[in-house]
Order: sequence, then C-alpha cells, then structure tokens
Amino acid sequence: MWDMHSEAWWIKVLDGDLTPPEQALWEQHLSECPTCRAEWAALAQLEMVLRVAPVPVPPADLAAKTTARAVLMRRQRRLWMLLGISFLTVLLGAGVVVALGTVYWDFNRLLAAMVFSKDMLLQVLMRTLVGLMVAGRSFSPLVLALAAGLLFLFMPHGVLATVAVVMVRRQRGVAEA
Ligand SMILES: [Zn+2]
Repeated sequence: MWDMHSEAWWIKVLDGDLTPPEQALWEQHLSECPTCRAEWAALAQLEMVLRVAPVPVPPADLAAKTTARAVLMRRQRRLWMLLGISFLTVLLGAGVVVALGTVYWDFNRLLAAMVFSKDMLLQVLMRTLVGLMVAGRSFSPLVLALAAGLLFLFMPHGVLATVAVVMVRRQRGVAEA
C-alpha cells in the first residue's frame, strides 16, 4: 500500500502512472484529505497556467531586439526580392531583345531572299513579256493588264521603264510599218 503523502507517490501521480484502482484510491484520498486536496488544486492551477501560457514571456529588451531583427530580416528579404525582380526583369528584357533581334535578323534575311528570288522571277517574266511583245504576238488586254499590274506592284522601277521603252519602240515599229 502506498503512502499518499510520500514524494514517490506524488511523482507517480504527476507522471500519470496510476493504475485504475490506484486512481480510484487517490480520488478517494483527495476527497478525504484537505492537505492533499489543496496541494492538488494548486498543482492543477499551475498546470492550467502553464498550458495557457506555455511560452515564457521574454524580457522587454529581448523582445525589442527580436523585433528589430525581424524588421531587419524583412528589410533584407525585401531588398533581395527587389534585386531578384530587377535581375529577372533585366534578364527577361535581354531575352526579349535577343529574341526580337534574331527574329528581325531572320526576317531581314528572309525578306532579302524573297526580294532576290522575286527579282529573278520578275526578270524572267519581264524578258518573256518583252520578247513576246517585241515579237508582236497577240496578247489579250486582260493578260497585259494583269502583267502590268504585277510588274507595277512588284517592281515599280526599272521594269516599267523597260516596258515603256519597248512599248514606244513597238509603236514606232507599228507606225513605220
Ligand atoms: Zn493526504
């Protein structure tokens, strides 16, 4: 049988190591012994206080230091974030510029290739047309108009002059004939 006023019993009680029969005996003793009841109530109150405020309140200057450090950390974090955003913006801008430059360069090259091939095509077309006109073959006005329109659209200079010269020559030829 336990001595319920011994330190060992109280340690056992406080550790929560009581068996159900022991717990029943303890509750019975508490109801009968005012000394144990008072001590038990005080311990219960202390436990409640500790549960309500489990974190010890830090000294005032420590709290201030912690706050200052937290503020500093927040400032540093914000600074890093700002730097990161700036870096990302610069990186993104450079990327966009490079991408645009590449596209522009490619576009220029494509345009140059197109212009070159168009020049070749139009030269062939022009020679054929001029040859046909010089030969005096019959051309439907529609085809002529289309060809003239095409030439006008694609190569407004040079070809027009050539066509004009050829036309003038042909008219002269017709006039002489
Ligand atoms: Zn007692």
